[in-house]
Amino acid sequence: MITANAQATFGPSEPFKATTIDRRDLGPRDVLIEIKYCGICHSDIHHARSEWRQEQYPLVPGHEIAGIVAEVGSEVTKFAVGDRVGVGCMVDSCGECENCRKGEEQYCLKGNTLTYADVDKYGQRTQGGYSTHIVVEEDFVLRIPEGISLDVAAPLLCAGITTYSPLRRWEAGPGKKVAVVGLGGLGHMAVKIARAMGAEVTVLSQTLRKKEDGLRLGADHYYATSDPETFEKLAGTLDLIINTVSAKIDVDAYLSLLALDGTLVNVGAPAEPLSLNVFSLLGQRRSYAGSLIGGIRETQEMLDAKHNIGAEIEVISVDKIDEAYERVLASDVRYRFVIDISTMTA
Ligand code: NAP
Ligand code: ZN
Repeated sequence: MITANAQATFGPSEPFKATTIDRRDLGPRDVLIEIKYCGICHSDIHHARSEWRQEQYPLVPGHEIAGIVAEVGSEVTKFAVGDRVGVGCMVDSCGECENCRKGEEQYCLKGNTLTYADVDKYGQRTQGGYSTHIVVEEDFVLRIPEGISLDVAAPLLCAGITTYSPLRRWEAGPGKKVAVVGLGGLGHMAVKIARAMGAEVTVLSQTLRKKEDGLRLGADHYYATSDPETFEKLAGTLDLIINTVSAKIDVDAYLSLLALDGTLVNVGAPAEPLSLNVFSLLGQRRSYAGSLIGGIRETQEMLDAKHNIGAEIEVISVDKIDEAYERVLASDVRYRFVIDISTMTA
C-alpha cells in the first residue's frame, strides 16, 4: 500500500479534515501520480453533502486532477516518470461493452468506476484528488500537453470535457447561436470553447454582475435571466443551449428560446426532478437532452486541441476548501477554485 495525505469530509455537514488514505500498490498497468493541483467541481459538493444519494464517509472528492507521473508499472507503455498528466471523473470501465468500444466509457453499460465515491474492481473504495497521490490504470490517464500549465489544465478534466463534449456533439461552430446558462466553472469553459469553435455565444446569467468577464471570456452577448425581457427578446433565436445550472430551472422558459430543431442540453445536475410542458418541444421540433462528461479519447482530443484553453482559476490552499464550497454555492466563483496540493502537509 502507498499512503497518501488527503482532505476528507466525515459526514454531509462536516468540515474537511486532514487524513491519510491507502492507494493500491502498482499493478503492471498502473501509474502512480503525484498530484499537483485539483479543481473543485460543484459535483464534489453534491457528493460531499450526500445530495444525490447517501454517500459513504470519509469521502475524499476531486476529479479534476493534474500532476506528474512518479512511478509506472512494468507493462505501462503510454507514460514515463516525469510526464505531465491528468485524471478526470472515471478511473476504469469494463472496456468490452458497445459503448466502451466506441470510446464512450462514461456510458459504460456495466457501470464505469468513478474517481471517488465508488468501489473499484479490487473491491476498494475510490478516493479522489484532494490528496497527494493517486494510482490509476494507464488507459484512464490523460496527457497534459506542454504549453498549458497544470493549475489551469486541472479543470479541463471535468468542466472542460463536460462542455466540450456536447458542444462537439451538437456541432457548435460558425453560424450557430449557442447560449450558456450559468457562468460558473462549467459555464465559463463552455463560453471559451464555444467561442474557439467559432459559434456566436450568449451568456444567460442570473444578473449582469459578471458581464465584463463574460465578454472578455469570449461571449458576444450577455443577458440577465432575472430580467423577464431577456426571454421575450431571445424567444425562438438560439440553436443550442448548454444549461450548467446546479439547481432547478424553468425548462419551458429556456426551451422557448430555441429556434426550429434547437436543442437544450442539461449538463447541470440538480438533485430534484425537473418538469416541462411537452408543447415546449412540439412547436419548433425542439429537443431536450443530457450529457455526461466525455470519453477518454475525446478528453485527450480536447486537451490536444490547438487553442490551448485553460480555465480561469483561483488557487487556494487546502485549509480553504470549506470556504471555497460556500463561495461556489453563493455563485461567487471566478471561475474555478483549484487546490494547490503542495499545501497539503499532513
Ligand atoms: P458552479 O461553478 O456552481 O456553476 C453553476 C452556475 O449556475 C453558477 O455559477 C450560477 O451562475 C448558476 N446558478 C447557480 N445557482 C443557480 C440558481 N439557483 N438559479 C439559476 N442559476 C444558478 O458549478 P459547476 O461546477 O459549473 O457545475 C454545475 C452543475 O453541473 C452541477 O450541478 C454539477 O454537479 C454538474 N456537473 C455535471 C457534469 C456532467 O457530466 N453532466 C459534470 C460536472 C458537473 P450565474 O451566477 O452566472 O447565474
Ligand atoms: Zn466535475
